[in-house]
Amino acid sequence: MKVLVANLGSTSFKYRLFDMSEGAASMLTSGGFERVTEYTPCIDEMLAKLVDDGHLASADELEAVGFKTVLGKDLSGCVDADEHVLAALDGFQEVAPAHNPAYAEGIRSFAERCPRARRVALFETAFYQWVAPAASHYAIPKAWRDLGIRRYGFHGASHKFVAERSAELLGRDDVAERVRQLYLRGPGECDGPPLRVLSCHLGGSSSVTGIRDGVAIGTSMGFSPQSGLPQNNRVGDLDAMAIPYACKMLGLTLDEAERQLTRKGGLLGLSGVSNDARDVRAAAAEGNADARLAHGVLIDSIRHWAGSFHFRMGGAEVISFTAGIGENDAELRAAVCAGLEDLGVKLDPTRNAAVTRGAEGLISADDSAVKIMVIPANEELVIAREVFRHVTHQPSLSSQST
Ligand code: ADP
Repeated sequence: MKVLVANLGSTSFKYRLFDMSEGAASMLTSGGFERVTEYTPCIDEMLAKLVDDGHLASADELEAVGFKTVLGKDLSGCVDADEHVLAALDGFQEVAPAHNPAYAEGIRSFAERCPRARRVALFETAFYQWVAPAASHYAIPKAWRDLGIRRYGFHGASHKFVAERSAELLGRDDVAERVRQLYLRGPGECDGPPLRVLSCHLGGSSSVTGIRDGVAIGTSMGFSPQSGLPQNNRVGDLDAMAIPYACKMLGLTLDEAERQLTRKGGLLGLSGVSNDARDVRAAAAEGNADARLAHGVLIDSIRHWAGSFHFRMGGAEVISFTAGIGENDAELRAAVCAGLEDLGVKLDPTRNAAVTRGAEGLISADDSAVKIMVIPANEELVIAREVFRHVTHQPSLSSQST
């Protein structure tokens, strides 16, 4: 079965084509487009290229297309990308304006061009559907809650991959299997001692998730992808009263405040240098005080959230790092884990320095009770597998009737 994973970023369109024969994913090809304003021409070009390059006999050979949809109103999980998904994306386009309209356009375009392909949406929020109500609600009036304002969480595909892979690396096949079946069967029972993971996805956008026995108990991101840790140019957590105060004092409209919080905040806002963690670190090393502050705020925020989940889970067996910063920045990993020997967290500096992007590795000392790991991000693989499982386990109405 050929499954295409479509990743429609705010300014990019990336794709990966997988062959899922026997359920094992092998990537056939990948590609993408930058500075995208309209997705449909890119999709046309991509389909033509896949045929020209011999990966598909025709667009009809595509059996499924998976979409990493971000946030849907009243909808989550791994579901057929049908009218319900389009309505859910539309319902929350104010909250994810860079992503939801893009996915709606992409889903419609694929429906027209590849009508035989099953379209499946894997919401980034899906991994958090079992988070307890006490951990997913804000203390706001009921009318606000009725709008759907609550904690959702994002980076679900990435944290899910970490949950599965860290269990595999520790030989916990029971937990890994639970993660693999999560969206089809629900959490179910798990044997053996607890496996508690503090999963740090640190990239252009970042989040920390607490995962117990393969199931998320909470995450640093809340209602929108603008929350939690400071992001590249997005604000992260902020006291709600700061917004009306800044609007009044600086004479900003609400739209302008929103623009600044979503484009001029985060590492860029703090450092005044760049939205790229590499530039911020280089400027900090040269003595730029604002850049040093930005770096420090990021590290403090990671520790804040990891500490919260450590306490809430009653401990941790694993701390994992993934994505651009997490996979590459050994100094930041060391700073996150510093001074935690009393919690059983002990980094091995040589192992830590040796792991760079693309490499998977254990970076804790042999006598560290908590295993510290670097796990390269692999969201597309999760999506391809989930799409395959969804399609093979949940026949569509049309295929049921044949
Ligand atoms: P995204 O989150 O945008 O999908 P990535 O996971 O690749 O993308 O993360 C991108 C971020 O990773 C960049 O903002 C960059 O700051 C950071 N990064 C990449 N390489 C390094 C490095 N060697 N050291 C520190 N940060 C890095």
